[in-house]
Amino acid sequence: MSDVSLETIVSLCKRRGFVFQASEIYGGLAGFYDYGPLGVELVNNLKQEWWKAMVREHDNIFGIDGAIIQNPKLWEASGHVAGFTDPLVEDTVTHKRYRADHLAGKDTNNIEELTELLKDKKSPDGNPLGPVRTFNMMMKTFIGPTSEEEFEPEAYDVGGDKYTGPIVEAVYPERYLIQYDPTGLAYLRPETAGSIFTNYDNVRETMRAKLPFGVAQIGKAFRNEISPRDFIFRVRELEQMEMQYFIKPGEQEKIYQEWRDFAWSFLIERLGIDEKNLQWHEHDDNERAHYAAAAHDIYFKYPQGFKELWGTHNRTDYDLKAHQKVSGKDLEYFDEGSRKKFIPYVIESSVGVGRMLMAVLVDAYHEEEINGEKRVVLKLKPELAPYRVAVSPLLKNKPELVAKAKEVYDMLRKEFGNVMWDDNGNIGKRYRRQDEIGTPYCVTIDFDTLNDDTVTIRNRDTTEQNRVSVSSLAPHIS
Ligand code: ATP
Repeated sequence: MSDVSLETIVSLCKRRGFVFQASEIYGGLAGFYDYGPLGVELVNNLKQEWWKAMVREHDNIFGIDGAIIQNPKLWEASGHVAGFTDPLVEDTVTHKRYRADHLAGKDTNNIEELTELLKDKKSPDGNPLGPVRTFNMMMKTFIGPTSEEEFEPEAYDVGGDKYTGPIVEAVYPERYLIQYDPTGLAYLRPETAGSIFTNYDNVRETMRAKLPFGVAQIGKAFRNEISPRDFIFRVRELEQMEMQYFIKPGEQEKIYQEWRDFAWSFLIERLGIDEKNLQWHEHDDNERAHYAAAAHDIYFKYPQGFKELWGTHNRTDYDLKAHQKVSGKDLEYFDEGSRKKFIPYVIESSVGVGRMLMAVLVDAYHEEEINGEKRVVLKLKPELAPYRVAVSPLLKNKPELVAKAKEVYDMLRKEFGNVMWDDNGNIGKRYRRQDEIGTPYCVTIDFDTLNDDTVTIRNRDTTEQNRVSVSSLAPHIS
């Protein structure tokens, strides 16, 4: 259902254990969320589905899992230190900060254009706005005990002389990082792509890969968003599923289209998202990231409107060229056919796990009336649902029913893994609870089961109930 409100989704997520505010008992922290027991199951299923479609089903795509903190030179070479910015504007009275493009209502990073658009505008609190500035979104961190607060320079004697230089060099001369920056400054990666580029040649060599080939990664990334909002849509700690596809220059147009098609059909066929809730958005010159020559996003109809879910980008040879230049490592590819060396082009497919989770929840959410009774149901694809099936004894105070139900539960658990034991409340309540978390099937063990080894299996979407034998249960659930 696409017209569900954000509040409804947030409340369902909290009530049923999909998503909690991070450090909620301390008042939370803007832009950070924790997944609960159901959320982590659903997210794991989404990631697995992507990994299957992307890595396991392509014999020329290989996975990696890179470190979150990399040598800071990586982010200089990639252009993130200089260019990973968002336009910021400040309320001159409250000093609250806003994304200038959001206030201006236009997707652009062009400072002059934003200044012009905002010249007669006030802040949401009705105060004058300051000048539009750029704000770097990379999160900083410091490696090793390097900060001056932690060490008294006088305490270290270097070669008999009192040391007066940067303290870290005296204490940890062997550490590489101090040669780069005496403060130990490093960044939490703003995108997973970075370590894919730095491992391009390692993967090519170890996997004896020939162009075209891809490298895929699922992992956390961090962005110091000026105004995190819309629940898990815009957060400061996010998870990305990215794949960089290395190709011969000249093949970019066709391959770009193929990866656009891949994303579109993955959402519809593998996640079951309704095509009506998706649309394409092409970036114009002002919107495109510093590395991209072309960018097409798939927008999903979130409660706050159509917004970016999945990006396909033509990054050209920008990244490998930049890393070759700064690292000094030869990243050219030798093409045996043409006997020529060149830097490969890159087509990128990049999607956020949290935005995918939110899209799937919004799309699956339905409110229905059945026989005069209202119900909330998550019509998730069975393979994605946190629980594939719930097993219940009709009455929880009848040991013979409970024992038989446990037998069925153990059998199904061996088959499917994610099976829920549910003996709380009456059967009607159990069905409603399972509908709300998207469990596709409920199996009930009653007194007849003890005589004829049949159970009731109830289908979440049709609410139909059928009697089937325990031995033929599994195929009904698959
Ligand atoms: P936006 O324009 O919404 O800030 P972006 O164009 O900067 O996103 P990319 O750099 O292309 O995003 O990142 C790839 C994907 O990562 C996005 O399509 C989105 O799904 C996800 N993503 C990016 N930023 C965030 C964020 N702050 N919170 C959650 N997901 C994000």
